[in-house]
Amino acid sequence: MEKANNRTELLRQIRDEVLHLENSPLYQERISNRVYPVIGEGNHYAKIMFVGEAPGRNEALTGRPFVGAAGKILDQLLASIGIPRNDVYITNIVKDRPPFNRDPQPEEIEFYAPFLDRQIEIIQPRIIATLGRFSMAYIMNKFGLGSELRPISQLHGKTFEIQASYGPVTVVPLYHPAVAIYNASSKTTLEQDIKALTAI
Ligand code: URA
Repeated sequence: MEKANNRTELLRQIRDEVLHLENSPLYQERISNRVYPVIGEGNHYAKIMFVGEAPGRNEALTGRPFVGAAGKILDQLLASIGIPRNDVYITNIVKDRPPFNRDPQPEEIEFYAPFLDRQIEIIQPRIIATLGRFSMAYIMNKFGLGSELRPISQLHGKTFEIQASYGPVTVVPLYHPAVAIYNASSKTTLEQDIKALTAI
């Protein structure tokens, strides 16, 4: 029987390791800008885990995922399906902010992905909702769905069943909420797609 606080302790270990990641390609950026890494937050027993890309400016300033404009959209999407933000776990592949919000580089994804892998093993979500094409590609490749990878325009809102070490998981690729900041039709698409989470 798992100890009640075991997950919290294991997640704390990840936080402590990331805080001291001096060999990260983005560590110097973190120090120069006096910002924080973003490890993840939410329910340690969440059924649903959201995996974004990398922290933006507001996230790096606060150390919390999805608290800026894209975060507001994510909050609205969760509210639209009646799931409290506190019930889910929200994290990113890359834990430090890339300069100028540029796309994460392959070596940054490779560097930080083992922390995401551990978070998945600890939290054991039944549903992994990826936000954007980078986390979609990483999660689909990780779980043996590489041959099914297509542009996100073809896969958003679909569901994929995979077998994780701890049991079955449904992977749901979603567009990144940032696409909906200035585009009402993308928001409608996201609202449609996120309903898939309630049907699982
Ligand atoms: N975009 C992301 O991918 N992650 C965040 O935490 C914020 C914005």
